[in-house]
Amino acid sequence: MTGQDIQTEAIGTWMNKNELEKNLSIGMYGPPELKHDEKTHYLGEFKERVIRLLTRKQVAEPAVYPEIVEALKDKRAVRLVISGDIVDSFVEKYEALARGLGKSYTVVHDPELKGETGLAVVSRDAVDVEKINVPDRELRLSKLGLSKTLINAAGKKVCPHCLEEIIHADPGETINYQKLTWSDRFWGEHCLGCVHKPN
Ligand SMILES: [Zn+2]
Repeated sequence: MTGQDIQTEAIGTWMNKNELEKNLSIGMYGPPELKHDEKTHYLGEFKERVIRLLTRKQVAEPAVYPEIVEALKDKRAVRLVISGDIVDSFVEKYEALARGLGKSYTVVHDPELKGETGLAVVSRDAVDVEKINVPDRELRLSKLGLSKTLINAAGKKVCPHCLEEIIHADPGETINYQKLTWSDRFWGEHCLGCVHKPN
């Protein structure tokens, strides 16, 4: 063996060892996390797996966003992920919705999370949905011709006329209203969606 050969062999051994150590350290600590920065904006999820999301402000509204109902019904949806920063009373309606549709949900507590995402419906695989954001409810329904009074009466009882208006504008919104019954009226309740409230 010449001096040159010994040197080459030594380098070869060193490189192999180096390769081995690299593999060992990957085994011990796991590969560097993919798209870590992006994931902090989507509650720790890959953006390409998000079907739909709401901002924290949208989650805190009294109404349920029908877009989330639709997203949870999507066959690709496996889970609802909720930011741990939001008060329980605001997220309960969405948790109940997920349960009712047979989808699991997780609340994520992570100080590293950034951005405005309040909740997200996610898939197991990349779905690459182009529009994952949901438009503001009040703005969207105003454009469809509903009055602000009626839009903000979400969660309340409304008269058949108002209910008819809602169904006409967006059938998905009926989840946010209850029908005022004859006996409700008998006991003095009135429609909270009508601009001119009857006496
Ligand atoms: Zn009414």
